[in-house]
Amino acid sequence: TSSAAVIDEPIIPPLQINYTKLLINGQFVDSASGKTFPTLDPRTGEVIAHVAEGDAEDINRAVSAARKAFDEGPWPRMTAYERSRIMLRFADLAEKHTQELAQLETWDNGKPYEQALTAELPLFVRLFHYYAGWADKIHGLTVPADGPHHVQVLHEPIGVAGQIIPWNFPLLMLAWKVGPALACGNTIVLKSAEQTPLTALYVAKLFQEAGLPDGVLNVVSGYGSTAGAALASHMDVDKLAFTGSTNTGKVVLELAARSNLKPVTLELGGKSPFIVCDDADVDHAVELAHFALFFNQGQCCCAGSRTYVHERIYDEFVDKAKARALGRTVGDPFKNGIEQGPQIDLKQFEKVLRYIKSGIDSDATLECGGDRFGSKGYFVQPTVFSNVKDDMLIAQDEIFGPVQSILKFKDVDKVIKRANATRYGLAAGVFTTNIDKANTISRGLKAGTVWINCYDIFDAAIPFGGYKMSGIGREKGVYSLNNYLQVKSVISPLKNPAW
Ligand code: NAD
Repeated sequence: TSSAAVIDEPIIPPLQINYTKLLINGQFVDSASGKTFPTLDPRTGEVIAHVAEGDAEDINRAVSAARKAFDEGPWPRMTAYERSRIMLRFADLAEKHTQELAQLETWDNGKPYEQALTAELPLFVRLFHYYAGWADKIHGLTVPADGPHHVQVLHEPIGVAGQIIPWNFPLLMLAWKVGPALACGNTIVLKSAEQTPLTALYVAKLFQEAGLPDGVLNVVSGYGSTAGAALASHMDVDKLAFTGSTNTGKVVLELAARSNLKPVTLELGGKSPFIVCDDADVDHAVELAHFALFFNQGQCCCAGSRTYVHERIYDEFVDKAKARALGRTVGDPFKNGIEQGPQIDLKQFEKVLRYIKSGIDSDATLECGGDRFGSKGYFVQPTVFSNVKDDMLIAQDEIFGPVQSILKFKDVDKVIKRANATRYGLAAGVFTTNIDKANTISRGLKAGTVWINCYDIFDAAIPFGGYKMSGIGREKGVYSLNNYLQVKSVISPLKNPAW
Protein backbone atom coordinates (compact mmCIF):
# COMPACT_ATOMS: atom_id res chain seq x y z
CA THR A 1 0.00 0.00 0.00
CA SER A 2 1.04 3.63 -0.31
CA SER A 3 1.21 3.91 3.48
CA ALA A 4 3.70 1.04 3.67
CA ALA A 5 5.86 2.81 1.09
CA VAL A 6 5.91 5.86 3.33
CA ILE A 7 7.14 3.72 6.19
CA ASP A 8 9.94 2.35 4.01
CA GLU A 9 11.19 5.89 3.67
CA PRO A 10 10.50 7.47 7.04
CA ILE A 11 10.46 11.25 7.20
CA ILE A 12 13.48 12.30 9.24
CA PRO A 13 12.99 15.54 11.18
CA PRO A 14 15.64 18.26 10.74
CA LEU A 15 17.13 17.67 14.17
CA GLN A 16 20.52 17.06 15.68
CA ILE A 17 20.36 14.73 18.67
CA ASN A 18 22.60 16.72 20.99
CA TYR A 19 21.78 15.37 24.42
CA THR A 20 22.40 11.69 24.99
CA LYS A 21 24.39 11.69 28.22
CA LEU A 22 23.12 11.64 31.80
CA LEU A 23 22.52 14.97 33.49
CA ILE A 24 24.06 14.80 36.95
CA ASN A 25 24.83 17.86 39.06
CA GLY A 26 24.42 20.21 36.13
CA GLN A 27 26.81 18.32 33.83
CA PHE A 28 26.10 15.99 30.94
CA VAL A 29 28.22 12.94 31.78
CA ASP A 30 28.83 9.41 30.55
CA SER A 31 27.50 6.57 32.65
CA ALA A 32 29.91 5.21 35.27
CA SER A 33 30.11 1.92 33.36
CA GLY A 34 30.63 3.71 30.04
CA LYS A 35 27.73 1.68 28.62
CA THR A 36 25.15 3.02 26.19
CA PHE A 37 21.87 1.66 24.84
CA PRO A 38 20.11 2.35 21.55
CA THR A 39 16.83 4.21 21.40
CA LEU A 40 14.82 3.00 18.42
CA ASP A 41 12.52 4.58 15.85
CA PRO A 42 9.22 2.67 16.24
CA ARG A 43 8.40 3.24 12.56
CA THR A 44 11.30 1.07 11.48
CA GLY A 45 13.01 -0.43 14.52
CA GLU A 46 16.18 1.41 13.48
CA VAL A 47 18.51 3.20 15.89
CA ILE A 48 17.92 6.93 16.41
CA ALA A 49 20.77 7.44 18.86
CA HIS A 50 22.88 5.70 21.47
CA VAL A 51 22.19 7.01 24.94
CA ALA A 52 24.29 6.72 28.10
CA GLU A 53 22.94 3.81 30.14
CA GLY A 54 22.67 4.71 33.79
CA ASP A 55 22.60 2.01 36.44
CA ALA A 56 22.83 1.81 40.25
CA GLU A 57 26.16 3.64 40.35
CA ASP A 58 24.77 6.56 38.35
CA ILE A 59 21.67 6.68 40.52
CA ASN A 60 24.01 6.95 43.54
CA ARG A 61 25.83 9.84 41.91
CA ALA A 62 22.58 11.56 40.96
CA VAL A 63 21.06 11.11 44.43
CA SER A 64 24.17 12.56 46.11
CA ALA A 65 23.97 15.57 43.78
CA ALA A 66 20.27 16.03 44.55
CA ARG A 67 20.95 15.59 48.29
CA LYS A 68 23.67 18.24 48.24
CA ALA A 69 21.50 20.60 46.21
CA PHE A 70 18.73 20.15 48.75
CA ASP A 71 20.78 20.30 51.96
CA GLU A 72 23.29 22.95 50.95
CA GLY A 73 22.17 24.48 47.67
CA PRO A 74 20.20 27.62 47.03
CA TRP A 75 17.01 26.02 45.67
CA PRO A 76 15.02 25.28 48.87
CA ARG A 77 16.33 28.51 50.40
CA MET A 78 15.42 30.85 47.55
CA THR A 79 12.31 32.90 47.85
CA ALA A 80 9.36 31.10 46.38
CA TYR A 81 9.04 33.96 43.92
CA GLU A 82 12.57 33.33 42.62
CA ARG A 83 11.76 29.64 42.15
CA SER A 84 8.60 30.58 40.33
CA ARG A 85 10.55 32.91 38.01
CA ILE A 86 12.97 30.12 37.04
CA MET A 87 10.08 27.78 36.32
CA LEU A 88 8.42 30.45 34.17
CA ARG A 89 11.66 31.04 32.30
CA PHE A 90 11.81 27.31 31.62
CA ALA A 91 8.20 27.30 30.39
CA ASP A 92 9.01 30.17 28.02
CA LEU A 93 12.04 28.30 26.68
CA ALA A 94 9.97 25.15 26.20
CA GLU A 95 7.43 27.21 24.30
CA LYS A 96 10.18 28.63 22.11
CA HIS A 97 11.49 25.12 21.39
CA THR A 98 8.07 23.53 20.93
CA GLN A 99 8.83 22.25 17.45
CA GLU A 100 12.07 20.51 18.36
CA LEU A 101 10.49 18.99 21.46
CA ALA A 102 7.49 17.74 19.48
CA GLN A 103 9.75 16.35 16.73
CA LEU A 104 11.92 14.58 19.25
CA GLU A 105 8.86 13.17 21.04
CA THR A 106 7.37 11.86 17.79
CA TRP A 107 10.65 10.39 16.58
CA ASP A 108 11.32 8.55 19.82
CA ASN A 109 7.71 7.53 20.58
CA GLY A 110 5.94 7.25 17.20
CA LYS A 111 2.96 9.43 18.11
CA PRO A 112 1.48 11.74 15.45
CA TYR A 113 3.51 14.93 15.20
CA GLU A 114 0.38 17.06 14.96
CA GLN A 115 -0.83 15.60 18.25
CA ALA A 116 2.51 16.23 19.94
CA LEU A 117 2.74 19.77 18.58
CA THR A 118 -0.83 20.98 19.00
CA ALA A 119 -2.05 19.06 22.06
CA GLU A 120 0.82 17.77 24.17
CA LEU A 121 3.36 20.58 23.96
CA PRO A 122 0.85 23.33 24.83
CA LEU A 123 -0.26 21.28 27.83
CA PHE A 124 3.36 20.69 28.80
CA VAL A 125 4.02 24.44 28.82
CA ARG A 126 0.72 25.08 30.61
CA LEU A 127 1.63 22.61 33.36
CA PHE A 128 4.82 24.53 34.14
CA HIS A 129 2.96 27.86 34.13
CA TYR A 130 0.45 26.31 36.50
CA TYR A 131 3.06 24.96 38.91
CA ALA A 132 5.17 28.12 38.72
CA GLY A 133 2.02 29.88 39.86
CA TRP A 134 1.79 27.58 42.88
CA ALA A 135 5.38 28.09 44.04
CA ASP A 136 4.66 31.26 46.02
CA LYS A 137 1.19 30.22 47.17
CA ILE A 138 2.14 27.19 49.22
CA HIS A 139 1.69 28.08 52.84
CA GLY A 140 0.90 26.39 56.11
CA LEU A 141 -1.75 26.96 58.75
CA THR A 142 -2.19 28.18 62.23
CA VAL A 143 -4.62 26.06 64.18
CA PRO A 144 -6.71 26.85 67.27
CA ALA A 145 -5.56 24.05 69.59
CA ASP A 146 -7.03 23.62 73.07
CA GLY A 147 -4.96 25.42 75.69
CA PRO A 148 -2.78 28.54 75.62
CA HIS A 149 -0.57 27.49 72.72
CA HIS A 150 0.41 29.02 69.47
CA VAL A 151 0.39 26.27 66.85
CA GLN A 152 1.94 26.67 63.43
CA VAL A 153 1.71 23.98 60.80
CA LEU A 154 4.56 24.43 58.36
CA HIS A 155 4.61 22.93 54.87
CA GLU A 156 8.18 22.09 53.98
CA PRO A 157 9.63 20.45 50.89
CA ILE A 158 10.08 16.73 51.39
CA GLY A 159 13.67 16.55 50.10
CA VAL A 160 15.03 14.40 47.26
CA ALA A 161 12.24 13.12 45.01
CA GLY A 162 12.80 10.01 42.89
CA GLN A 163 10.58 9.94 39.81
CA ILE A 164 10.12 7.08 37.34
CA ILE A 165 8.14 7.73 34.17
CA PRO A 166 6.80 5.63 31.25
CA TRP A 167 7.16 6.01 27.49
CA ASN A 168 3.60 6.77 26.35
CA PHE A 169 3.63 10.50 27.21
CA PRO A 170 7.26 11.16 28.07
CA LEU A 171 6.98 14.96 28.28
CA LEU A 172 3.62 15.13 30.02
CA MET A 173 4.53 12.49 32.59
CA LEU A 174 7.71 14.45 33.31
CA ALA A 175 5.70 17.66 33.77
CA TRP A 176 3.16 16.03 36.10
CA LYS A 177 6.01 15.02 38.39
CA VAL A 178 8.73 17.64 37.97
CA GLY A 179 6.28 20.59 38.12
CA PRO A 180 4.91 20.05 41.64
CA ALA A 181 8.25 18.80 43.01
CA LEU A 182 10.01 21.99 41.93
CA ALA A 183 7.18 24.29 42.98
CA CYS A 184 7.46 22.87 46.51
CA GLY A 185 11.25 23.38 46.61
CA ASN A 186 12.45 19.79 46.24
CA THR A 187 15.33 18.35 44.26
CA ILE A 188 14.84 15.51 41.80
CA VAL A 189 16.33 12.39 40.27
CA LEU A 190 14.21 11.46 37.26
CA LYS A 191 14.53 8.09 35.51
CA SER A 192 13.05 8.25 32.03
CA ALA A 193 11.68 5.21 30.21
CA GLU A 194 14.29 3.24 28.25
CA GLN A 195 12.12 3.43 25.10
CA THR A 196 11.97 7.25 25.13
CA PRO A 197 14.96 8.91 26.78
CA LEU A 198 15.43 11.84 24.41
CA THR A 199 12.96 14.57 25.41
CA ALA A 200 13.78 14.40 29.14
CA LEU A 201 17.43 15.18 28.33
CA TYR A 202 16.43 18.10 26.11
CA VAL A 203 14.19 19.39 28.91
CA ALA A 204 17.06 19.07 31.39
CA LYS A 205 19.17 21.24 29.08
CA LEU A 206 16.43 23.90 28.91
CA PHE A 207 16.17 23.91 32.71
CA GLN A 208 19.93 24.58 32.90
CA GLU A 209 19.45 27.45 30.49
CA ALA A 210 16.57 28.81 32.59
CA GLY A 211 18.90 29.06 35.58
CA LEU A 212 17.89 26.04 37.61
CA PRO A 213 20.78 25.49 40.06
CA ASP A 214 23.02 22.45 39.51
CA GLY A 215 21.82 19.23 41.07
CA VAL A 216 18.17 20.29 41.40
CA LEU A 217 17.02 18.22 38.43
CA ASN A 218 19.10 15.16 37.57
CA VAL A 219 18.09 12.93 34.67
CA VAL A 220 19.24 9.32 34.43
CA SER A 221 18.37 7.30 31.33
CA GLY A 222 18.42 3.55 31.78
CA TYR A 223 16.48 0.38 32.39
CA GLY A 224 13.92 -0.32 35.08
CA SER A 225 15.46 -3.35 36.71
CA THR A 226 18.80 -1.55 37.17
CA ALA A 227 18.45 2.25 37.37
CA GLY A 228 14.76 2.23 38.29
CA ALA A 229 15.10 -0.34 41.03
CA ALA A 230 18.16 1.44 42.45
CA LEU A 231 16.16 4.67 42.68
CA ALA A 232 13.14 3.00 44.30
CA SER A 233 15.30 1.29 46.91
CA HIS A 234 17.70 4.17 47.59
CA MET A 235 18.09 5.00 51.29
CA ASP A 236 18.59 8.70 50.61
CA VAL A 237 15.54 9.30 48.40
CA ASP A 238 12.75 10.89 50.44
CA LYS A 239 9.81 10.32 48.12
CA LEU A 240 9.08 8.18 45.09
CA ALA A 241 6.61 8.93 42.30
CA PHE A 242 6.03 6.21 39.72
CA THR A 243 3.94 5.90 36.58
CA GLY A 244 3.82 2.63 34.71
CA SER A 245 2.24 -0.79 34.87
CA THR A 246 0.48 -2.19 37.92
CA ASN A 247 2.98 -5.04 38.20
CA THR A 248 5.96 -2.71 38.30
CA GLY A 249 4.04 -0.47 40.70
CA LYS A 250 3.90 -3.35 43.16
CA VAL A 251 7.63 -3.94 42.74
CA VAL A 252 8.61 -0.32 43.43
CA LEU A 253 6.24 -0.08 46.41
CA GLU A 254 7.92 -3.13 47.88
CA LEU A 255 11.40 -1.74 47.18
CA ALA A 256 10.42 1.50 48.90
CA ALA A 257 9.04 -0.38 51.90
CA ARG A 258 12.08 -2.63 52.22
CA SER A 259 14.54 0.26 52.06
CA ASN A 260 13.63 3.46 53.90
CA LEU A 261 9.79 3.50 53.81
CA LYS A 262 9.79 6.48 51.47
CA PRO A 263 6.21 7.49 50.65
CA VAL A 264 5.15 6.36 47.19
CA THR A 265 2.59 7.67 44.74
CA LEU A 266 1.59 5.36 41.90
CA GLU A 267 -0.17 6.00 38.59
CA LEU A 268 -0.82 2.58 37.12
CA GLY A 269 -2.86 0.76 34.54
CA GLY A 270 -6.56 0.80 33.77
CA LYS A 271 -9.43 -0.86 31.93
CA SER A 272 -11.73 2.10 31.76
CA PRO A 273 -15.41 1.71 30.83
CA PHE A 274 -17.08 4.03 28.33
CA ILE A 275 -20.85 3.76 28.79
CA VAL A 276 -23.19 4.84 25.99
CA CYS A 277 -26.84 5.16 27.06
CA ASP A 278 -29.77 4.71 24.69
CA ASP A 279 -30.58 8.43 24.57
CA ALA A 280 -27.12 9.36 23.26
CA ASP A 281 -26.51 10.88 19.87
CA VAL A 282 -24.99 7.82 18.25
CA ASP A 283 -22.66 9.58 15.80
CA HIS A 284 -21.19 11.75 18.51
CA ALA A 285 -20.86 8.81 20.90
CA VAL A 286 -19.12 6.72 18.24
CA GLU A 287 -16.62 9.48 17.55
CA LEU A 288 -15.84 10.01 21.24
CA ALA A 289 -15.62 6.29 21.98
CA HIS A 290 -13.23 5.96 19.03
CA PHE A 291 -11.10 8.81 20.33
CA ALA A 292 -11.24 7.46 23.90
CA LEU A 293 -9.73 4.17 22.78
CA PHE A 294 -7.55 4.88 19.75
CA PHE A 295 -5.86 8.10 20.90
CA ASN A 296 -2.07 7.72 21.11
CA GLN A 297 -2.21 4.27 19.41
CA GLY A 298 -4.34 3.05 22.32
CA GLN A 299 -1.37 3.57 24.61
CA CYS A 300 -3.17 5.55 27.29
CA CYS A 301 -3.51 4.37 30.86
CA CYS A 302 -7.04 5.80 30.83
CA ALA A 303 -8.03 4.43 27.39
CA GLY A 304 -11.78 3.77 27.20
CA SER A 305 -11.14 0.11 26.53
CA ARG A 306 -14.52 -1.36 27.46
CA THR A 307 -17.17 0.31 25.33
CA TYR A 308 -20.57 -0.55 26.88
CA VAL A 309 -23.44 0.30 24.51
CA HIS A 310 -27.16 0.07 25.24
CA GLU A 311 -28.81 -2.79 23.35
CA ARG A 312 -31.32 -0.48 21.61
CA ILE A 313 -28.55 1.33 19.69
CA TYR A 314 -25.96 -1.46 19.77
CA ASP A 315 -26.06 -2.59 16.12
CA GLU A 316 -26.04 0.91 14.73
CA PHE A 317 -23.17 1.83 17.07
CA VAL A 318 -21.08 -1.20 16.05
CA ASP A 319 -21.56 -0.49 12.33
CA LYS A 320 -20.51 3.11 12.76
CA ALA A 321 -17.61 2.29 15.08
CA LYS A 322 -16.33 -0.16 12.48
CA ALA A 323 -16.64 2.42 9.69
CA ARG A 324 -14.78 4.97 11.80
CA ALA A 325 -11.96 2.53 12.59
CA LEU A 326 -11.68 1.56 8.92
CA GLY A 327 -11.33 5.26 8.09
CA ARG A 328 -8.57 5.85 10.62
CA THR A 329 -5.40 6.98 8.86
CA VAL A 330 -2.35 4.94 9.81
CA GLY A 331 1.17 5.74 8.66
CA ASP A 332 4.24 7.84 9.18
CA PRO A 333 3.41 10.00 12.22
CA PHE A 334 5.37 12.89 10.72
CA LYS A 335 2.96 13.02 7.77
CA ASN A 336 0.07 15.51 7.92
CA GLY A 337 -3.33 13.98 8.53
CA ILE A 338 -2.00 10.75 10.05
CA GLU A 339 -4.04 9.76 13.09
CA GLN A 340 -2.11 6.68 14.13
CA GLY A 341 1.57 5.84 14.19
CA PRO A 342 3.35 2.68 15.34
CA GLN A 343 3.18 1.04 18.78
CA ILE A 344 6.19 1.88 20.91
CA ASP A 345 8.27 -1.27 20.47
CA LEU A 346 8.37 -4.90 19.42
CA LYS A 347 7.32 -6.13 22.87
CA GLN A 348 4.16 -4.01 22.96
CA PHE A 349 3.43 -4.75 19.29
CA GLU A 350 3.58 -8.49 19.91
CA LYS A 351 1.53 -8.16 23.09
CA VAL A 352 -1.24 -6.31 21.24
CA LEU A 353 -1.29 -8.95 18.48
CA ARG A 354 -1.51 -11.69 21.13
CA TYR A 355 -4.55 -10.02 22.67
CA ILE A 356 -6.17 -9.70 19.25
CA LYS A 357 -5.66 -13.43 18.73
CA SER A 358 -7.15 -14.10 22.15
CA GLY A 359 -10.22 -12.02 21.18
CA ILE A 360 -10.66 -14.04 18.00
CA ASP A 361 -10.19 -17.33 19.87
CA SER A 362 -12.72 -16.33 22.52
CA ASP A 363 -15.45 -15.88 19.92
CA ALA A 364 -15.76 -12.14 20.03
CA THR A 365 -16.72 -10.87 16.55
CA LEU A 366 -13.79 -9.29 14.72
CA GLU A 367 -15.41 -6.36 12.89
CA CYS A 368 -12.24 -4.98 11.33
CA GLY A 369 -8.47 -4.94 11.64
CA GLY A 370 -6.89 -7.83 13.48
CA ASP A 371 -3.37 -7.79 12.08
CA ARG A 372 -0.23 -5.76 11.72
CA PHE A 373 -0.33 -2.78 9.34
CA GLY A 374 2.27 -2.78 6.58
CA SER A 375 5.36 -4.91 6.80
CA LYS A 376 7.80 -2.75 8.70
CA GLY A 377 7.90 -1.20 12.16
CA TYR A 378 5.32 -1.73 14.87
CA PHE A 379 2.08 -0.62 13.22
CA VAL A 380 -1.20 -2.35 14.11
CA GLN A 381 -4.46 -2.10 12.17
CA PRO A 382 -7.23 -0.27 14.03
CA THR A 383 -9.20 -3.22 15.37
CA VAL A 384 -12.81 -3.47 16.57
CA PHE A 385 -14.42 -6.41 18.36
CA SER A 386 -18.16 -6.64 18.96
CA ASN A 387 -20.07 -9.21 21.04
CA VAL A 388 -17.42 -8.97 23.70
CA LYS A 389 -18.31 -10.55 27.03
CA ASP A 390 -17.11 -9.39 30.45
CA ASP A 391 -15.16 -12.57 31.16
CA MET A 392 -13.08 -12.48 27.97
CA LEU A 393 -9.40 -11.62 28.40
CA ILE A 394 -9.75 -8.65 26.02
CA ALA A 395 -12.38 -7.20 28.38
CA GLN A 396 -10.29 -7.74 31.49
CA ASP A 397 -6.65 -7.02 30.69
CA GLU A 398 -5.09 -3.77 29.68
CA ILE A 399 -4.19 -4.23 25.98
CA PHE A 400 -2.51 -0.84 25.51
CA GLY A 401 -3.14 -0.92 21.77
CA PRO A 402 -5.63 0.10 19.06
CA VAL A 403 -8.19 -2.58 19.92
CA GLN A 404 -11.77 -1.54 20.73
CA SER A 405 -14.03 -3.99 22.59
CA ILE A 406 -17.77 -3.27 22.35
CA LEU A 407 -20.06 -4.85 24.94
CA LYS A 408 -23.85 -4.73 25.20
CA PHE A 409 -25.97 -3.65 28.18
CA LYS A 410 -29.62 -3.17 29.02
CA ASP A 411 -29.93 -1.91 32.54
CA VAL A 412 -28.12 1.10 34.06
CA ASP A 413 -27.70 -0.42 37.54
CA LYS A 414 -26.28 -3.59 36.09
CA VAL A 415 -23.84 -1.80 33.80
CA ILE A 416 -22.47 0.15 36.76
CA LYS A 417 -21.79 -3.15 38.54
CA ARG A 418 -20.19 -4.61 35.42
CA ALA A 419 -18.10 -1.50 34.86
CA ASN A 420 -16.84 -1.74 38.44
CA ALA A 421 -16.07 -5.45 38.23
CA THR A 422 -12.38 -4.93 37.46
CA ARG A 423 -9.22 -4.65 39.51
CA TYR A 424 -8.68 -1.21 38.01
CA GLY A 425 -10.35 2.14 38.66
CA LEU A 426 -8.56 4.84 36.72
CA ALA A 427 -11.15 6.54 34.53
CA ALA A 428 -14.56 6.18 32.89
CA GLY A 429 -16.79 7.83 30.32
CA VAL A 430 -20.55 8.28 30.37
CA PHE A 431 -22.52 9.26 27.30
CA THR A 432 -26.09 10.44 27.89
CA THR A 433 -28.27 13.54 27.67
CA ASN A 434 -30.22 12.45 30.75
CA ILE A 435 -28.91 14.22 33.83
CA ASP A 436 -30.26 11.58 36.21
CA LYS A 437 -28.40 8.85 34.39
CA ALA A 438 -25.25 11.00 34.23
CA ASN A 439 -25.41 11.59 37.98
CA THR A 440 -26.28 8.01 38.89
CA ILE A 441 -23.56 6.48 36.75
CA SER A 442 -20.82 8.97 37.62
CA ARG A 443 -21.50 8.59 41.37
CA GLY A 444 -21.69 4.82 41.08
CA LEU A 445 -18.41 4.29 39.23
CA LYS A 446 -15.29 3.51 41.21
CA ALA A 447 -12.84 5.55 39.16
CA GLY A 448 -10.56 8.51 39.77
CA THR A 449 -11.92 10.45 36.77
CA VAL A 450 -15.35 10.34 35.12
CA TRP A 451 -15.81 12.19 31.86
CA ILE A 452 -19.44 12.93 30.96
CA ASN A 453 -20.06 13.53 27.23
CA CYS A 454 -16.36 14.14 26.71
CA TYR A 455 -13.12 12.18 27.15
CA ASP A 456 -9.44 12.77 27.86
CA ILE A 457 -9.89 16.30 29.10
CA PHE A 458 -6.59 16.94 30.88
CA ASP A 459 -6.14 20.25 32.56
CA ALA A 460 -3.23 21.17 34.80
CA ALA A 461 -5.69 21.93 37.62
CA ILE A 462 -7.73 18.69 37.43
CA PRO A 463 -6.47 15.95 39.75
CA PHE A 464 -5.81 12.55 38.16
CA GLY A 465 -5.21 9.14 39.67
CA GLY A 466 -6.69 5.77 40.36
CA TYR A 467 -8.96 3.82 42.63
CA LYS A 468 -8.06 0.22 43.44
CA MET A 469 -5.08 -1.23 41.52
CA SER A 470 -4.86 1.81 39.26
CA GLY A 471 -2.77 3.59 41.81
CA ILE A 472 -2.21 5.50 45.01
CA GLY A 473 -2.52 9.28 45.26
CA ARG A 474 -3.34 12.03 42.79
CA GLU A 475 -1.22 14.05 40.38
CA LYS A 476 -1.98 17.48 38.90
CA GLY A 477 -4.06 20.11 40.59
CA VAL A 478 -3.71 21.21 44.20
CA TYR A 479 -3.70 17.57 45.36
CA SER A 480 -0.33 16.90 43.74
CA LEU A 481 1.43 19.37 46.04
CA ASN A 482 0.84 17.23 49.15
CA ASN A 483 2.95 14.49 47.56
CA TYR A 484 5.97 16.77 47.74
CA LEU A 485 5.50 18.41 51.15
CA GLN A 486 6.24 17.46 54.70
CA VAL A 487 3.96 18.81 57.40
CA LYS A 488 5.63 20.10 60.55
CA SER A 489 3.67 21.17 63.64
CA VAL A 490 5.45 23.78 65.74
CA ILE A 491 3.94 24.45 69.17
CA SER A 492 4.87 27.14 71.65
CA PRO A 493 3.17 28.56 74.76
CA LEU A 494 1.25 31.73 74.09
CA LYS A 495 2.83 33.17 77.20
CA ASN A 496 5.97 31.88 78.90
CA PRO A 497 4.99 31.06 82.53
CA ALA A 498 8.36 32.48 83.74
CA TRP A 499 7.51 35.96 82.38
P1 NAD B 1 6.62 -0.40 33.12
O1 NAD B 1 5.99 -0.45 34.44
O2 NAD B 1 7.36 -1.58 32.62
O3 NAD B 1 7.66 0.83 33.01
C1 NAD B 1 7.41 2.11 33.50
C2 NAD B 1 8.70 2.66 34.07
O4 NAD B 1 9.12 1.85 35.16
C3 NAD B 1 9.88 2.68 33.10
O5 NAD B 1 10.64 3.85 33.32
C4 NAD B 1 10.66 1.45 33.49
O6 NAD B 1 12.02 1.52 33.15
C5 NAD B 1 10.46 1.44 34.98
N1 NAD B 1 10.65 0.13 35.60
C6 NAD B 1 10.44 -1.11 35.06
N2 NAD B 1 10.76 -2.07 35.96
C7 NAD B 1 11.19 -1.45 37.08
C8 NAD B 1 11.67 -1.90 38.35
N3 NAD B 1 11.79 -3.20 38.63
N4 NAD B 1 12.00 -0.98 39.27
C9 NAD B 1 11.88 0.33 39.00
N5 NAD B 1 11.47 0.82 37.83
C10 NAD B 1 11.12 -0.05 36.87
O7 NAD B 1 5.46 0.01 32.18
P2 NAD B 1 5.43 0.08 30.61
O8 NAD B 1 4.89 -1.20 30.12
O9 NAD B 1 6.71 0.57 30.06
O10 NAD B 1 4.34 1.26 30.47
C11 NAD B 1 3.02 1.05 30.18
C12 NAD B 1 2.19 0.95 31.44
O11 NAD B 1 2.19 2.18 32.14
C13 NAD B 1 0.76 0.64 31.15
O12 NAD B 1 0.33 -0.43 31.92
C14 NAD B 1 0.01 1.92 31.52
O13 NAD B 1 -1.29 1.75 31.99
C15 NAD B 1 0.86 2.52 32.54
N6 NAD B 1 0.68 3.97 32.55
C16 NAD B 1 -0.08 4.54 33.53
C17 NAD B 1 -0.29 5.91 33.56
C18 NAD B 1 -1.11 6.56 34.62
O14 NAD B 1 -1.09 7.77 34.74
N7 NAD B 1 -1.84 5.84 35.43
C19 NAD B 1 0.28 6.71 32.59
C20 NAD B 1 1.04 6.11 31.60
C21 NAD B 1 1.24 4.74 31.60
